[in-house]
Amino acid sequence: MPAEQIAVTETLEREQSPNVPEGLEKMMRRQGYHFVGRHSATKICNYTSESMKNGESCYKHRFYGIRSWRCIQATTAIGCNLACSFCWRIIPEEEGFKWNEMNAGGKWDEPEKIVEGLISEHKRIITGYKGNEKVDMRRWEESNDPAHVALSLTGEPLFYPKMNQLLRAFHDRGISTFLVTNGTMVNALKALTVMPTQLYVSVQAPNREIYGKVTRAKNLAATWDNFMEFLGIFSRMNTRRTFRLTLVENLNMTDVGGYAHLIEVGKPHYVEVKGFVYVGGARNEKRGLSYEQMPRENSILEFAKEIAEKTGYSVADYHASSNVALLCADQNAARSRIIRFEK
Ligand code: SF4
Repeated sequence: MPAEQIAVTETLEREQSPNVPEGLEKMMRRQGYHFVGRHSATKICNYTSESMKNGESCYKHRFYGIRSWRCIQATTAIGCNLACSFCWRIIPEEEGFKWNEMNAGGKWDEPEKIVEGLISEHKRIITGYKGNEKVDMRRWEESNDPAHVALSLTGEPLFYPKMNQLLRAFHDRGISTFLVTNGTMVNALKALTVMPTQLYVSVQAPNREIYGKVTRAKNLAATWDNFMEFLGIFSRMNTRRTFRLTLVENLNMTDVGGYAHLIEVGKPHYVEVKGFVYVGGARNEKRGLSYEQMPRENSILEFAKEIAEKTGYSVADYHASSNVALLCADQNAARSRIIRFEK
């Protein structure tokens, strides 16, 4: 890695260790998280690795054309204001960390520093792949020139107050942006003037009652009302709008009519109907979930078909290893789902 990039990363690390409790930082580092500055992090995605080693790419490659080997999985905020039971991430409170996640950043880092830091850290992470004889070297070289960032790693990225500048900084480098939000940050969405390449909202439940059970929101009434207001604003966002449904048997895989109503309000171009995976934080017994609640392929496809019938959307595709079905709003969305990327 060129000296100046090492300098950037080390300066960032030296100046600002992440603003998370030390014990949590250690836990996350053991899980492969690499911190950048006070409140950002990256972790190599399994599909970035597999797509270099054995050619297996993620479902976003199949659905939208993302080159998994050129993707950075990252976040600009470690903290989150929800505690969804199916979430893979560590929920600090469950591990006994008293930590005000809502004020995770304290002083927020500058967008350019975050972007440079994430790119440098990504390159540092993949350096080790060069010596692996299974690795496709053409893809490894391309991976050193990232073309996509998925702001979906952990936490709520819209906590970061300089999202417009950050998105612009990525786009100025020809890097596409997939931004995944939990749908509660209404003012942050109103303030979003630079559009991500694709904007995701996680739709955790079909109605308020189940939303409370899944998200474990501290103030359910206010959080649900916020979510509904968020969907209204989301429906007018001038970019590729996507709903992500993560379904758990005997929890939120029910009330198709409720999901159809939320789709009517949010007007997404794409709906991803995805089976929950019993891994990471989701295995914490405090979450009350079990392996048996992971939906099977046919039940995901069946549920997707039911939503399509209720909404007029069409079932456009399915990716088996991620157990996710894709619904498209109309012919236009279906025709343009594969993105023409700058690089
Ligand atoms: S888009 Fe998501 S799943 Fe695909 S490589 Fe990037 S981080 Fe991984």
